[in-house]
Amino acid sequence: MRIDILSVVPELLESPLNHSIIKRARDKGLVEIIVHDVREYGKGNYRQVDDYNYGGDAGMVMMIEPVYTIIEKLKKERKYDEIIYMSPDGDLLNQKMANDMSCMENIIILCGHYKGIDQRIRDYLITKEISIGNYVTSGGEIPATIVCDAIIRLIPGAISDETSALSDSFQDGILSAPVYTRPANFNGWEVPDILLSGNPKLIQEWQYEQAMERTKRLRPELLKNSRK
Ligand code: SAH
Repeated sequence: MRIDILSVVPELLESPLNHSIIKRARDKGLVEIIVHDVREYGKGNYRQVDDYNYGGDAGMVMMIEPVYTIIEKLKKERKYDEIIYMSPDGDLLNQKMANDMSCMENIIILCGHYKGIDQRIRDYLITKEISIGNYVTSGGEIPATIVCDAIIRLIPGAISDETSALSDSFQDGILSAPVYTRPANFNGWEVPDILLSGNPKLIQEWQYEQAMERTKRLRPELLKNSRK
């Protein structure tokens, strides 16, 4: 899979995309991530990428030309499944969207900044808009890294124990069961006996009951769409 990310502050993407599972997936060649600095495509000595908001409202707006130039260049090189804009008014990110995107070949993710991007970019170039939640962040970079992380950990081979991603919350439409590690007793706070029983069938049943109980209690609305 190849992900091209367009940003005016590429530094913001560096750490999240170069550590842990994403780094390993990149090193193994499971995903190629190319960050494009939109500023390099800006005009003039100042590499201008933003301009005043028509209508006079406060806040600068990302200009169409630099973004258009990069997207058109990339589209000539390969076919893209989606050209995504990170946006607070986009479709709310969920596990199904992450699953679907993890099967794609090539995607572009455009990070907005300032007051947002010229609406014509959204009207003519963008094929999908994704929000990470009903709140506003300063730029699309951190939201984009969340999308990348949610997708990349699902690519087979990205997580060493492949079944691990499948037992995460939301994969079956329910939350995941609680997890514990050693010591079995910490200051009298004990790990449930059943997990120490060594009986995989009983443990699996217990985990399922716990997951269902947790979902009913914390996120009952998930059960309406649950496949289980
Ligand atoms: N004026 C815009 C917000 C601009 S915030 C509005 O009110 O809708 C600057 C950039 O941050 C946006 O262009 C977008 O790329 C990103 N962003 C902000 N909140 C986001 C969210 N919840 N999900 C995804 N991207 C977001």
